[in-house]
Parts: sequence; C-alpha cells; structure tokens
Amino acid sequence: MELNQLTIKEAQEGLREKRFSSVELTKACLCQIEKFNSKINAFITVCEKKALQQAMKADWKMENGKWKMEKLPLLGIPLAIKDNFCTKGIKTTAASKVLEDYVPVYNATVVQRLIDAGAIIIGKTNLDAWAHGSSGENSDFGPTKNPWNLKFVPGGSSSGSAAAVSAQMCLGATGTDTGGSVRLPASFCNLVGLKPTYGRVSRYGVVAMASSLDAIGHLTKDVTDSAIILNITSGKDINDATTSKRDVPEHLENLKKGIKGLKIGLPKEYFVEGMDKRIVERLKEVFKTLERLGAEILEISLPHTNDALAVYYIVQPSEVSSNLARYDGIRYGFPRNKFGDEARRRIMLGTFTLSTGYYEAYYLQAMKVRTLIKKDFEKAFAKVDVIIAPVSPTLPFRLGEKIDDPLEMYLSDILTVTANLAGIPGLAVPAGFIDSSTGSLPVGIQILGQQFSEELLFQVGYTYEQETKWYQQRPKL
Ligand code: GLN
Repeated sequence: MELNQLTIKEAQEGLREKRFSSVELTKACLCQIEKFNSKINAFITVCEKKALQQAMKADWKMENGKWKMEKLPLLGIPLAIKDNFCTKGIKTTAASKVLEDYVPVYNATVVQRLIDAGAIIIGKTNLDAWAHGSSGENSDFGPTKNPWNLKFVPGGSSSGSAAAVSAQMCLGATGTDTGGSVRLPASFCNLVGLKPTYGRVSRYGVVAMASSLDAIGHLTKDVTDSAIILNITSGKDINDATTSKRDVPEHLENLKKGIKGLKIGLPKEYFVEGMDKRIVERLKEVFKTLERLGAEILEISLPHTNDALAVYYIVQPSEVSSNLARYDGIRYGFPRNKFGDEARRRIMLGTFTLSTGYYEAYYLQAMKVRTLIKKDFEKAFAKVDVIIAPVSPTLPFRLGEKIDDPLEMYLSDILTVTANLAGIPGLAVPAGFIDSSTGSLPVGIQILGQQFSEELLFQVGYTYEQETKWYQQRPKL
C-alpha cells in the first residue's frame, strides 16, 4: 500500500514504529496531488515547500525523541484545509475572486490547534465560493470533480476537501457545514464527515457564512480518524464566545462498545417525495444490519421537516447578507463587481427578508419555525438514542446538471439543514454503492444525536462501518 492511502491512525502507528518518515508520507501525498489535481481540481493552493519543511522538522523531533504522543498526536501527518479557514502566511480565498490575494496574518483556531498537535498543512482545498453551494461547481477557481467518476460532482461546499481525501491526496481535511456542506460531500465521495454540535468547535478565523448555523467539521477515511481530529479541534476558545465550556470527552473511548440495546429512530418524514428509490432500498439494508447488530429500530416523526428548507433559505441568506457586508471595498480590496451570482442572490434575498416591513413576515416567522424544528428533535430524543437518515435524496449528479436551476440545487440540502437549524451533531458514514450504467456511485447515511453526543455518534458509526467495511472502498483513478 502507498503511504498516502493510510488512515491517520495507521500513519500514527507507522511513524511511531519508524516504518517510514513524515517526509516520505508527505511526499507520497504531494506526488498524488501532482498526478491528479489537474484532473480533479481539489486544491486551490498546494504548500509543497512549507509542507516538506514541516515534515523534516517532525522527523527530527521523532528521531530525537523530543515528543510525546499525547502532546503531538498528529506529528508528521499531512492534512488539507478548506480554503475558507484563515492560514497565516498562506492565501485564503474562500474560492472567491474577492479574496483572491488575501493572505491572513493569523490562523483560525482549528488550524492552530491542528498545527500545535503536529499536523502538516499540505494545502488549501477548493469549495463553492463563500461555502454557498452543494456541488462544488460554484467556485471562482473552477469546479471540483468526483474521484469516483470525473463527470460527476463531489458534493459541496467542502468539495475539494472531500475530493482530496477520497483521491488519497491527504489523510484528512477540514470542512464547514452550514446546511450540509461536510455531510453531503462525504456521502458523495464515500467518506466519513462530521458536523459537530453548534459551539463544540471554534469558528474563529473561518470565513463566516451564516453565523448561527456554521459548524466546523472535517472529512476522514474512517470514524476513528474523525474522533482523533475532534479530540484536537473541539473545546472552549476565548476568541469565539459561542464555544461551549463543556469538557471535551476522549472521543475514542466508547468507539468499540457496540450498539446492542440502542434505540435508533427512523424518521418517516426523511423519505421525501422524489427520493431516489435505490437510496430507499439501500437504507432498508442499513436498518437490517443495525437490527442484526442488536439495535432496536423505531419509526419516529419529525413533523416540521418539510418546513426546514424554507426556514433555512430565510435564516441563512439573512445572516449571509450581514456577514458579506464586510467585503465593502474598504477592508479587503475592491470587490464591488467580483461577487458571483450566487453570493449576490443571497445578499439580495437576505437584505430583503431583514428589511423593515418584511422582517416580521419572514425572518421572525422563520425563527419561530426554527424553534419548532428544534423541539421536534428534543421530543424524538426522549424516545430514541440516535436518528439515522439518508444524507441526500439523490446520488451524486452530473457536472452541469443543476447549475442553472438554483432551486433544484437547494433541494440537495433538504435532509441536512435540519441539524444546523437545531444545532445538533451529525455524522455521515459510507453506506454502500449503487451501480448504474455510468458505474458505481457511493451513498451515505447520517447519524444524528442530541447536542454534544458526538461520542455516541462515533460509537454507532464505528460499529456500522466495521460490520460493512464500505469505507474501505477507494476510487480507481
Ligand atoms: N448547500 C447549502 C447552501 O448552499 C449548505 C452550504 C454549507 O453548508 N456551507 O447553503
């Protein structure tokens, strides 16, 4: 096996046992980027020189015994960062021409924590500009392609992060999830994607999209790696007042406890009209497997699910219009005519819904329904431990298929926005493949839990992935 194909856990072990060096591991990733990035367009910036320097330093530390696994759990491990996270001295564009030349003077908290844990930043990944999108096509730096089939979208907005991990260009990558942007690309690329509880991970230094919905997550090859990263990124940050003071548990601890006796909810409203029948069939198999592993499956109802997308597309553009107002041409260059259509659409929608006379009719009303959606979940979690649902009503779609129809594109988020509106965590896990005339494409499920239940989500996700091993399938490039 090539070194770039390892999981984070495997690489940690290999480095510790001196089976290979961090320079070798980093070079293997850079080599993969060199070979395939021109086709896939996963990276906006590749930090070849800096990454190799960091790798050399990591090797030096390991050779001289100057490190402790507990202090530097990611020492020498190459990760990619979505290009809407500020990285000191490295261009940060949010995939928009507005920030084309922006070089931050500081690191986002998450980036700093990963670096402090020893990680190597291999590059900055492509995304839908400002994280607006579901397909990866809305980037001013060109669309990202799905490594499973280059004619298909990888899902968005964390498109480059998903494509980079899936194509074995790095061992893991950060992402942001405001309405599904980690879970959707994870599902489209056969990866594990975590959207943590709102306030679990600091948003400081991440280009803000919709501040009450934004969650900082990551994409990995398996559940164990996802838990390893959350151990590092989560916890109180004085620079983000919305981060929780709650202690961070050791997320790896309960991984192997199994799911015997656990109550799993199957929300009937998540099987929406127009949903791909093949996905419904796949889901049935998933529930059979979970039952066989000892879980009890209960049908539950989340009655306001149907309103979620409408609520999301009022709350989110409102917050977007406020957040993007800072790119007014005074602070960050001359953006006036550089915003793309999608950002303009959201700024206009948001300005409208917040304006006098309409605020009560739209924004305030949406906030009330948002509370009802949150209450739906609270009621459900009084009966079940976790909820399992599909991530997307469709399979990955063809590049260009939905690009001219924003409403059709927004429908991709119909099953993911609820978690952001309620502030609860969601873990996307590979759940198999669907074969068609165009080859086989991955399908993902999402495991939803109460706020701060990430440990439990990992436990369920790990049990399912170890039973099915879907996550071990890799695209042939
Ligand atoms: N696709 C959704 C949107 O366009 C979600 C984006 C996200 O989670 N960043 O708003």
